[in-house]
This record gives sequence, structure tokens and C-alpha cells, in this order.
Amino acid sequence: MVLLLARRALLAGRRRLPRAPSPPHAPAAARLCSGAGGEAAAGGDGALLRHLCRKLRASGPVTVAEYMREALTNPAQGYYTRRGGIGESGDFITSPEISQVFGELIGIWYISEWMAMGKPNTFQLVELGPGRGTLTEDILRVFNQLSSVLSKCDVSVHLVEVSPKLGEIQARMLTGGKMQPSPKDESAYMKGISKTGIPIFWYRDIQDVPSGYSFYLAHEFFDALPIHKFQRTEKGWREVLVDIDPEVPDQLRFVLSPSSTPATENFIQPEEMRDHVEVCPEAGVIIQRLACRIEKDGGAALVADYGHDGTKTDTFRGFRNHKLHDVLSAPGTADLTADVDFSYLRKMTQERTTTLGPIKQREFLKNMGIDLRLQVLLQNSRDTATREQLLHSYDMLMNPENMGDCFNFFALLPHHRLVHPDKKDKPESKSPLPPVAGFNELLLK
Ligand code: SAH
Repeated sequence: MVLLLARRALLAGRRRLPRAPSPPHAPAAARLCSGAGGEAAAGGDGALLRHLCRKLRASGPVTVAEYMREALTNPAQGYYTRRGGIGESGDFITSPEISQVFGELIGIWYISEWMAMGKPNTFQLVELGPGRGTLTEDILRVFNQLSSVLSKCDVSVHLVEVSPKLGEIQARMLTGGKMQPSPKDESAYMKGISKTGIPIFWYRDIQDVPSGYSFYLAHEFFDALPIHKFQRTEKGWREVLVDIDPEVPDQLRFVLSPSSTPATENFIQPEEMRDHVEVCPEAGVIIQRLACRIEKDGGAALVADYGHDGTKTDTFRGFRNHKLHDVLSAPGTADLTADVDFSYLRKMTQERTTTLGPIKQREFLKNMGIDLRLQVLLQNSRDTATREQLLHSYDMLMNPENMGDCFNFFALLPHHRLVHPDKKDKPESKSPLPPVAGFNELLLK
């Protein structure tokens, strides 16, 4: 049944206007350098740089994590709070903004898991860091196309977003303006109804989302969380900190902590082989929360991001107007990001759930049937420009030189999703569990 439905969704020819793709995040540029700084370079009013300089003068260097948190989510001047430039006209482009097919295949993944888990009569779709809301919009379109399948299921959407500006953009995109602030005593700060009639709620923190059977989604979310950076030296591990450059006014630079810091003690493993390590404790806390919730209430989580399995070193970088940007220059005016360490995420689940992946985006999308979907869209498009656009966005998502290899998919699933709890006792008594789509081929019968 799952397969027939997936086939129906993949073959559905409905198409909106293709999105115009532009370059994704460029590959990481290795560096550990002084910022170009200066308000002229900022193009902004430099308020965040002034605020940081005052703080550094008063209390000394800060960790990279503290710097990154201020630069991205300072309530008044943070990049996401004020600018949040995702998309063609912004600073960076993401897969859902490149092609609707991306979100549609993810929508099919959730339906396939919902069916494999015995079609519970209610589920929450919880997205962390929804950006412009495009991914949720594409997923909800698939849910709507397959409404006959979901007709007896009570679906609600829960978005975790720190940026009021992006929250508003999401609300306009998803509800067409049908949203309202929630009363102060409610955990959500805003609520609305999707164009297809599904209730949507907004929160600042995953902890505010009600418990219950949930499908979680984090696309390019974990890479935006603050990292600590460590450097191996002759005297042992030292933490990389951010300080004012004494030679140039209002310019920031990296320095090393004179001795070990609490974070160094906590996050560097004795067996570590690399000379430079980045750790994102906030990602660890959030993945642990997701694992606990899935263990207790059921569901699944799909994490998609660029990253590595505990092998990379210096991946901290900035993007502005689709170009690499010095991370210490003009804080608050550029997106700052670091590759996700999937080995750390896996470790932090503490085996509360099964983990799958990371696997490369091109493998995941291929397994989900992207080629068939492309064929259908190409057959249904009348003009050459649209066909070229479709092929170009396919290339952006799938080509190893573009996003195909550097982006990965990683999933958390309850243990019983992959192994029958009583299989050990009566191995022959149970039918085999369906394979998890994306990580295995979605077989279309
Ligand atoms: N998922 C979207 C957007 C990625 S950008 C896409 O792929 O297009 C990162 C998103 O995470 C933004 O929406 C940003 O505002 C949000 N974000 C960043 N830090 C956050 C935090 N600590 N809590 C909640 N949302 C956060």
C-alpha cells in the first residue's frame, strides 16, 4: 500500500512554477584568521559589532559558541532575527528553495513511515528552523494530495523558530495570513491554519512543543547552532576564543585560551586524533530531547544537513550574498555555519533510538524516487525553459559537485521500527518489517 501511494504521489504531474536555483553554500574554506571587521565592510549599522566590542573590553574574550549565538540570534541584531536571508535574493540557498521535488519526497518519507508504524490516528509534524516555510509547504501539499490516506489521521504542524521575522514569513507562506498571536499562557507564541486546513503552531524551543506521537524534521538547522572550537597545541588542547584585535579598532580576531577551559575538559575525548575539533553541545542537547521524545511517545526524526562523521576539522564559515564571508567581519550581517558532526549526534542519542545514516543526499533522494518524479515533471512541461530549469535544479540537488555528496540524511527511529521486540523468542511468528524508505530503495510496485 505504501508503495502504491508513493507511486501515485510521484506520478502526480501537478507542478508549481519551478524555483530559480542559485549556488548553494560553497565548500568549507579552511581558515583561522583575523576578521576584516569594520562597519564600512558591514553594510549594516555595526550595532552588534559595537555591542560585542563593549562586552569583550569589559569581560575579555568569549567562546566561538557565544560569538556565534550573538551573531545569529541576538534578539535585536542577530542575523536570523533581523535578516535571515534564505533564498535567491538572500545570502544562501537551500534544497527546498531549489526544487519543490525535495520537499515532496520528504513528505512521502513521513507518510511511508506513518504507514510502516501502523497508521497511528494522530501525529504532529515538528520542524526545527523552518526558514521561509517552503519545506513544510511542500510536505503539506503531498499530505493534501494523499488526503484519502490520511483522512482518519489528525495531523498538526509545530514549527520551532527563534526568529520573529522568519516566523512571520512562514506564517504568510503557510496560512496565507490566517494566523494570530497566542495568548500569553499558551506555550506557542503564534498559531494559524494552513491553506489545506491543518492547525499550525509556532514555538521558540522544542521543549514547548506538546508531547505526543511526532515526526521531526531538521533541515539545515543543526549547522546554525553555536559551536565550540578547540586547537591541539604543544601544551595540550586549548579553546579558540574571539577577542578584539589590539592593533585595529573595532576588529575581531581569534585567540587561543591561555589554559584549558571547562569546555575543553568536557568535550575533547582522550582518544581524539585530530588537531582541530568543533563541538556543538546545543545540537547534542536537542538531539537527546528528540531521542527521548521518540522513545517515549513514538515517531521518527529526519535530519538533513552538510556534515561529517567525526572526521572534519575547521568547517566554521560565513555566507553573505551567496559568497564566502569572513566569520568575524560585520557580525549579524552574514549567515554563520559549521558542518554537523553526525557521530556526535549519534552518540548523544544514547541508544534511546535506532539511528540510520548519515547517507549522501543523492543516495537518499534516488532511493526516494527522484528520477521518476523528474521524468513525470519533464513529460508534463510544455516549454524548454521549464525543462531546463527542472534539469538544472535536479543537478543542483544530486550532482556530487553541488549538493549531492556534501549533504547527508540521518534518521532516528524507535528500536521496534527495525526489530520486532519479541523477535528473539519467536523469530518465525512475525512478518518482516518494511524497510525504511530513503535509506533503502522505495520499491514501486
Ligand atoms: N530549514 C530551512 C532554513 C534553514 S536556516 C531551509 O532549509 O530552508 C536555519 C533556520 O533555523 C532559520 O529558520 C533560523 O531562524 C532557525 N534557527 C536558528 N537557530 C535557531 C534556534 N536556536 N532555535 C530555533 N530556530 C533556530
